[in-house]
Amino acid sequence: MILQGKSAVITGGVRGIGKAIAEEFCKEGANVLLCYRSNDDAANKTVEELKKYGTRVELLKGDVADAQHGEEAAKKAAELFGKVDILVNNAGITKDKLMMRMTPSDFDQVVQANLNGSFYFLRAFAPLMIKQKSGRIINISSIVGLRGNPGQVNYSASKAGIIGMTLSAAKELGRRGITVNAVAPGYIETEMTDVLTEEQKGKMMEMISLGRMGKAEDVAKTVTFLASENASYITGQVIGVDGGMTI
Ligand code: NDP
Repeated sequence: MILQGKSAVITGGVRGIGKAIAEEFCKEGANVLLCYRSNDDAANKTVEELKKYGTRVELLKGDVADAQHGEEAAKKAAELFGKVDILVNNAGITKDKLMMRMTPSDFDQVVQANLNGSFYFLRAFAPLMIKQKSGRIINISSIVGLRGNPGQVNYSASKAGIIGMTLSAAKELGRRGITVNAVAPGYIETEMTDVLTEEQKGKMMEMISLGRMGKAEDVAKTVTFLASENASYITGQVIGVDGGMTI
């Protein structure tokens, strides 16, 4: 088990990709604190499901767009586990609209949750990891942050911002024994992509070299690798998990 005895915090950890990451981490022996915004049913169900792995699974409810929540999460994780080895900034939202119809509020809400939220957690957890002289931070970006996508000016700006933040944080924290990487998923089957029209799904499928949608587990396995000792010399990278969509 490559994460035996490690402790991890995952934002948006009770559904979709975050839940798959939580499951991989527990399978590999990690204790996890799962942060979520509102879906209590999904949160309680996930805790029940992950019990079978025998590691600790804890919950914290809050909005990543609120800087205070990041501070609370760091405090709670330190109290629960005594240390935090891994932070995964995964929580994210979309509010897709063509640019002309996108209101300043649509733009702000997405950037606030996806980019500012990741920054608030990064800022809150870095001091703990600096004290430990070790840590792994993995930020979930998107291929849309590298390539752009019509209707997603807000989302792609937030995800490109995450890449810039990852690179700078990797430079700041490298000498403290902390790696910071980003994962850029392509088209992954979750509730987030369920809302796409058949036409949009068809267009995406045409771009995927491997000819299938990604699964949340595909992303989770990459994140687990980056969180493990196997990735100890990898920092400041953006790893695409997109079935060849960006070739
Ligand atoms: P889902 O919509 O399935 O899940 C999103 C999760 O984020 C939920 O657990 C939700 O909490 C949480 N969340 C959203 N906003 C907030 C907030 N303001 N504060 C706290 N938690 C919040 O999304 P996915 O699993 O598909 O996506 C996970 C990440 O992967 C996102 O960052 C997304 O942008 C990225 N991604 C996804 C792709 C895809 O194809 N699915 C492609 C590329 C990137 P709650 O359950 O309480 O609502």
